[in-house]
Amino acid sequence: MAVPASNGSRSAVDTDVDLLVIGAGVTGIHQLKRALDAGLTARLLEAGQGVGGVWHWNRYPGARLDSESYTYGYLFSKELFEGWEWRERFAGQPENERYFNYAVDKLGLRGHIRFGARVNSALFDQTSATWLVRTDDDTEVRARFVVAATGVLSVPVFPDVPGREDFTGVAHHTGLWPDTPVDFAGKRVAAVGTGSSGVQVIPSIVADVASLTVYQRSPNWCTPLNNEPITAEQQAELRADFEQLRENLNASASGFLHQPRDRTAFEDSRDERWEFHDRMWHSPGFAKVISHYADMLTDKAANDDWCAFMAGKVRGIVKDPATAERLIPTDHGWAGKRPPFVTGYFEAYNDPKVSLVDLRENPLVRVTETGIETSDGLREFDVIVWASGFDFGTGALNRMGVRGRGGLALEDYWADGPRTFLGLMSHGFPNFFFPGGPHGAAGNNPRYAEDQVNFVADAIEYLRDHGHRVIEVPADTEASWNAMVAELAAYSPFGEHSYFFGSNIAGKPRSFLLNPGGRPKLREFMGEVLQSKYSRFLS
Ligand code: NAP
Repeated sequence: MAVPASNGSRSAVDTDVDLLVIGAGVTGIHQLKRALDAGLTARLLEAGQGVGGVWHWNRYPGARLDSESYTYGYLFSKELFEGWEWRERFAGQPENERYFNYAVDKLGLRGHIRFGARVNSALFDQTSATWLVRTDDDTEVRARFVVAATGVLSVPVFPDVPGREDFTGVAHHTGLWPDTPVDFAGKRVAAVGTGSSGVQVIPSIVADVASLTVYQRSPNWCTPLNNEPITAEQQAELRADFEQLRENLNASASGFLHQPRDRTAFEDSRDERWEFHDRMWHSPGFAKVISHYADMLTDKAANDDWCAFMAGKVRGIVKDPATAERLIPTDHGWAGKRPPFVTGYFEAYNDPKVSLVDLRENPLVRVTETGIETSDGLREFDVIVWASGFDFGTGALNRMGVRGRGGLALEDYWADGPRTFLGLMSHGFPNFFFPGGPHGAAGNNPRYAEDQVNFVADAIEYLRDHGHRVIEVPADTEASWNAMVAELAAYSPFGEHSYFFGSNIAGKPRSFLLNPGGRPKLREFMGEVLQSKYSRFLS
């Protein structure tokens, strides 16, 4: 069923589909499902050869969730939930990729997806109020609505160091990992970068390599993930409590089950605090952020206290004192950057095969045919793992050739940082949505993205049912969301050296790329639009 033109008849333009989704990650798959359920004609273009988004591309050894698996999967269908058993509390990449394949097949979506189709331009035609989308392989799709579910972590970046292409050994970025196994056995391996990806790869390959040299520019506050298998008893409980689980997750500001704590740090004595810190150290994943002392992210003394505890743990695990000190952050406190969660990371440095190069002491000079040169000399390698991060938030959208009303280039409109409403639409780009994009992220990705997917789907259905064909956020409404982002960003624990401000990319404007108001603000702003029945959004 095609979306009608405003006079109630079909558009004169030959619209191939009502809705085109770009990207078969967690958000795009859900958006496609909602579109087909609504009776829209819909197609999905995916650059890769499989579904799963980050779980398709980031197939490096050790890649693993740090949201609880059963809080990360889809919750819109009880049948889908009951047809899948998560094996681990924090599923690894293979299990996640299998899950998304399961979901796509169970929901009958595969036939609507075209793989190997990388979008390189999306042009809005004002007369027909449609988008013309082109791919690298010259596919053209005309669509009334476009949903660019291209993700926030989908454009890998490399250090700006000369000679990277000259290296004649094997080199892979964690975000572009091949689907054929990379052989580490007996190899001299370099790993560059110690963010969430690097600290997962390092302990996962250490048993195989001949040597592993870690290039670290800045250490992170890494704490144990505390993964474990999900027992048969827990599986049964999850199934029995599905509705409650969904309700709890829907009520959570960040989309996690971890409960906030109301006690502040210095209400406890030093011994009580240390005992509680130890409980936190042994708690799963993000519990260490959400369930920590209530003032952990607002009182520097409370944060310093926990950091002192963590530093003590690192010194206790890593046997070489100089290496231990290099692994302890001094430039930010807990959650000043996105904290990685690890399994066996610090322990890896006790293996004599592993050495650490501190790039602050010895900066990168160049990559050569045979290895990596830093200011203290050349080290030769067979394999380089680039765990050097992503162009977060705006990376994919700014590279896709998006042209809105009057040919407005999205990357120009966002020249000083993204300007969005709800982190999913921008003024000047009618009928164009980007759920799961910049200004959207607010915790456990699928949970806030689900709010956004539902908003987009409901809006499109409203347009169809009421004979409208164009939806666009008014400039002043967009400005009110951006003002909220700017105001609350000041209270975010993340410092300006975090890539959440774009600071990892030279020349990228410094602007906050998350939604600092979380799901409560998202829902508040969405509620106002729904209450007004999209008035001022429609034409
Ligand atoms: P990242 O956190 O941005 O880490 C990149 C690393 O590369 C940092 O250590 C960075 O050092 C280093 N680096 C960047 N440019 C460099 C340069 N020019 N010279 C030297 N070092 C350089 O990227 P990531 O580890 O891929 O993680 C990105 C995000 O993906 C995570 O924060 C998380 O949201 C997600 N992720 C999640 C999981 C999970 O557990 N679920 C796993 C992996 C990734 P500096 O810190 O000094 O910039």
